Amino acid sequence: MDSEPFLPYSRQNIDCLDVDSIESVLKSDFLTQGPQVPLFEAELCKYIGVDYAVAANSATSSLHVACLALGVGVGDVVWTSPISFVASSNCALYCGATVDFVDIDDETLCLDVSALSEKLQRYLDEGKKLPKVVIPVHFGGQSCDMEKIAKLAKVWGFKVVEDASHALGGTYISSLLGESRIGSCLFSDITVFSFHPVKMITTGEGGVATTNNFELAEKMRLLRSHGIKKDVQVSDEGPWYYEQQCLGFNYRMTDISAALGISQLRKLNGFLKERRHIADSYEFLLREHFGVQKVPTFTNSSRHLFPVRVKAELRRNLFVYLRENGIGVNVHYIPIYRQAYYKAKESTFISCANAERYYSEAISIPIFPGLKQTDIARVSNLLYSGLSKFA
Ligand SMILES: *Cc1c(COP(=O)(O)O)cnc(C)c1O
Repeated sequence: MDSEPFLPYSRQNIDCLDVDSIESVLKSDFLTQGPQVPLFEAELCKYIGVDYAVAANSATSSLHVACLALGVGVGDVVWTSPISFVASSNCALYCGATVDFVDIDDETLCLDVSALSEKLQRYLDEGKKLPKVVIPVHFGGQSCDMEKIAKLAKVWGFKVVEDASHALGGTYISSLLGESRIGSCLFSDITVFSFHPVKMITTGEGGVATTNNFELAEKMRLLRSHGIKKDVQVSDEGPWYYEQQCLGFNYRMTDISAALGISQLRKLNGFLKERRHIADSYEFLLREHFGVQKVPTFTNSSRHLFPVRVKAELRRNLFVYLRENGIGVNVHYIPIYRQAYYKAKESTFISCANAERYYSEAISIPIFPGLKQTDIARVSNLLYSGLSKFA
């Protein structure tokens, strides 16, 4: 047992082509603000099928500039899913807005569109403030029901930012427009992806926001680099002129990261194939005795995560047992409103029933390109031996 390698729930997959592309940037003239970032952005646009891509140093930064570009500020409200990483909701707080949560669907684990619809009506009836932006999270790599969310956005007048941090390469199948890659923004204003090492492809740290709206893309570009515009043609000042037009940040991606991103993107379809194959194997082995995430027919998942559900009474023991046996299981996620910071801020958060139940039962098991069939069998055997040990 001891000789078997530790298996994390996810990890990067780096080969010599990645190393070569980084090395060539290191030996070039530009480590940052060179040609690699615009190249990576262009490749992402082509792969996803979207007009504009604005890369940044993390998805957290991308979510922040996305909210700012949509005008989120003090007095505004943003709604998102509680079963997500804290960044999905922190981005609104950075802008001075407040956050509220819409429960997940018990089977898909993504934002429940009927709960969203019901909450909008209830808040209107109670005279409460309606959201300026809703951030659906494509949990585990499968799309939320975007056509329905877009319809609600139109009726209720909110903007939509998809948090697709898990979902690069996944698709959404619309009854109107057919299949499109997540990020093509056919049913949203902006989509954000993460390139953290556990995600679909990596740039070390990194993220990107995609949109078909030129003004939003321009605003996000401005905000990621101090609010400074360089190519302003005003100038009595002289050819050195640059202009700070708003209060931006340094959220730029480096050329080193972008070169890694370009090289990784070339392997994405292979990664997707492997992840989907692993997910199919797990489903086959586990679905009889463990709860698994339901993938609706309107989406193809990128399979970033593979959460299994067990009886709440067994979860802790099973989790510890797997960790003790070298399986780097995790829980995705603690409902955001349960975080100490959020509790201290706001005492009135209603807890979301489906999110609570899912949280009490969930264990994410390893899934990443490079995970072998023998690893899958090992994880599955440990789940079953744990189940009979503790049940
Ligand atoms: C990883 C993740 C983020 C943050 O991504 P970073 O690139 O680490 O900033 C945001 N939302 C979700 C759902 C994530 O999984």
